[in-house]
Amino acid sequence: MLPGQTNQEGSPLNEQALRGAGKGRQRSRRRRRARILRGLGYLVGLLMLAALILGGLAWRSCGAAATESQLALHRRSPQYRAGRFANRLPTTQAGFFAILRRWLSGAAHSEPDKPLAVVSRRAADFSNPPKSGLRLTWLGHSSLLIEIDGRRVLTDPVFSERCSPWTFYGPRRFHPPPIPLEELPALDLVLISHDHYDHLDYRTIVALNERVPRFVVPLGVGAHLAYWGVAQEKIIERDWWQSTDVADLRLIATPARHFSGRTLWDRDRTLWASWVIAGPRHRVYFSGDTAMLPQFTEIGKRYGPFDATMIEVGAYNAMWPDVHLGPEQAVQAHLMVRGRLLFPIHWGTFNLALHAWTEPVERLAVAATKYGVRWVSPRPGQWIEPAVPPAVQAWWPKLPFKTVAEDPVFSSGLQDSR
Ligand code: ZN
Ligand code: ZN
Repeated sequence: MLPGQTNQEGSPLNEQALRGAGKGRQRSRRRRRARILRGLGYLVGLLMLAALILGGLAWRSCGAAATESQLALHRRSPQYRAGRFANRLPTTQAGFFAILRRWLSGAAHSEPDKPLAVVSRRAADFSNPPKSGLRLTWLGHSSLLIEIDGRRVLTDPVFSERCSPWTFYGPRRFHPPPIPLEELPALDLVLISHDHYDHLDYRTIVALNERVPRFVVPLGVGAHLAYWGVAQEKIIERDWWQSTDVADLRLIATPARHFSGRTLWDRDRTLWASWVIAGPRHRVYFSGDTAMLPQFTEIGKRYGPFDATMIEVGAYNAMWPDVHLGPEQAVQAHLMVRGRLLFPIHWGTFNLALHAWTEPVERLAVAATKYGVRWVSPRPGQWIEPAVPPAVQAWWPKLPFKTVAEDPVFSSGLQDSR
């Protein structure tokens, strides 16, 4: 009898042995399954713990939702629809995975090789008021110290190392703040354009709170400030086209085309705005974050001309053309609001997009020349007086960049804005 045949026919002894071996295999399979389940359990537990720790660390920085009485105010806003603030024009955007794929492939020269040099400022530098009555000091990104007709306005102040809910993760500054927070001169107000982390920084607001008498913000943003300890009576919230007077300055919230949110759950729960700052003798326009929108013309008609416009030029991409202007449309927006001097902001401090870090200003130079627009190019910490603007001097390195022909960015839903 061949060994194979024995097995096929089977003897009681062999069957017992086989059953035993089968049970053994089942037991080891069960043990393996239990080990895998236990491992998965640990992994889920660890992930939950990490999420809890990360969430806990970000908690205060995320801000707060509006109260019921604040929501009642929001519902009266023409900008509020179905529980959220909304742009008039639709937003076109590439799909999540298309954007993710592009992010993962990265961009050349998106950050400087070494920290950028700044012009360092101290409080004493500001003790002599500007001769012309209007002086603009760029503190990087959209943070500006605006001295206008004897008053001081600080816009979108971000002094933290990163614009992020966390101190250890998120886009990191290309340069230190040109002036330490404690060296800032006395301020009349802080002006906020919207609640994104690169414009509204929890730690900066907390540090400034004691020293700033007024915070002027778009509708809904006050809830974050109040949550961080800013007294309600210091917060002034405005809807588009509404104004407020602080001392002899008039601040008018004007439209912008953007979005808001500080977490995955609060998109568009607060309003975004651009601002007109009008003094007795001078007036300037601050764009905040915006894509192209036809109301720029109305802003220009109602409040222009402006001695200077501070308009965002960076963080654009053809995959999100209705979120940021890009340099070419920034020049158009400047002309529409009737600006006399264009001061580019929202570039040179954080890497928030997929272009070379110098590309916004290189493309701006081309567009400004094409349309005969006067502009300035201060480095962080440098100030300018629009009455006597310095000649444009490139303080940034010559790096390769994509021209408008190679990578055009134009907002949708408009008649051709080119
Ligand atoms: Zn933004
Ligand atoms: Zn921004």
